[in-house]
Amino acid sequence: MSIDPGRIPDLAVAKSEIDVNRSRFFISGDLLERRVLEERKWCAVRAVGRFLKREQRQEVIEIDKAKVSAPPKPPQVFTEIPVEQRYFSQVSADKRECSHCVVPGRALCSTCGGQGFLTQQVNRYSSATDSMRTETVQIDCGSCNGGYTFCVPCAGTNSVHQARVHYITDETHVLDRVFIPGGFGSSLAIDFMEHAKELEGTAELTIEPKRAGSAYRDQAFREEDCAGFQYGDALKRARADARFFLKDSLKHELHLYAIPFLELTFHRSKETVLLWRKDDGTHEALTHEGLSTPQS
Ligand SMILES: [Zn+2]
Ligand SMILES: [Zn+2]
Repeated sequence: MSIDPGRIPDLAVAKSEIDVNRSRFFISGDLLERRVLEERKWCAVRAVGRFLKREQRQEVIEIDKAKVSAPPKPPQVFTEIPVEQRYFSQVSADKRECSHCVVPGRALCSTCGGQGFLTQQVNRYSSATDSMRTETVQIDCGSCNGGYTFCVPCAGTNSVHQARVHYITDETHVLDRVFIPGGFGSSLAIDFMEHAKELEGTAELTIEPKRAGSAYRDQAFREEDCAGFQYGDALKRARADARFFLKDSLKHELHLYAIPFLELTFHRSKETVLLWRKDDGTHEALTHEGLSTPQS
């Protein structure tokens, strides 16, 4: 993990930037000038990725013609729309009589159940009684010819192969979440997460935890913080989520970004400000407008 120091939030640097007022939440310059009562260093983790996954179901069907083939290759790109394909893994050598045919080459109509007509209730006005009454009438089915339809499985031939067909759906699943440390209890969390969704942060993190070298215990890698900014449980949760998406994916693109931020509480006003750096290195800040009235 290489940390870009130019992206570590720094109050002193922030004060020197006029940019700090550019947030959609206005912070008056003098708020940052006030004495800081408490400064806490947190680090959020943004997980963003695309995962191509294949779902499939299979069944044995009767079919007129089929060829055994290898499963189709997954798409080369992360498709926006699910790609559906099918292939046959087994096809019987011999043909047998089609079980869908009622008479050779013809199947029973599924619309009318083989009756050739449909029954409908209609309301009719009777002038004799000057009232409406309900009558049952038969109308032509329209989907068949006398209750029979062309038999699709055997293509009207009355003989079929038995084949194992696999229906495949290749679909891109998208992960885009910001994990904030569990200990960070500010009500600004939701708004901060929205802002953090735009950032690539200070460092890119690995999906697998760094393992402490057993031979050199003192060199054990600690993954509690990013340059002193605490992950809390955010990194662990982000990794768990990423692993869930990674499972069974055919191909993926995944990034975990460390996004350090400061939680500043100011003297007297007790107002909380979150301060972080955008990817261009300038600071951005978030506060509750009018959460408490400055008393000075
Ligand atoms: Zn048939
Ligand atoms: Zn019919």
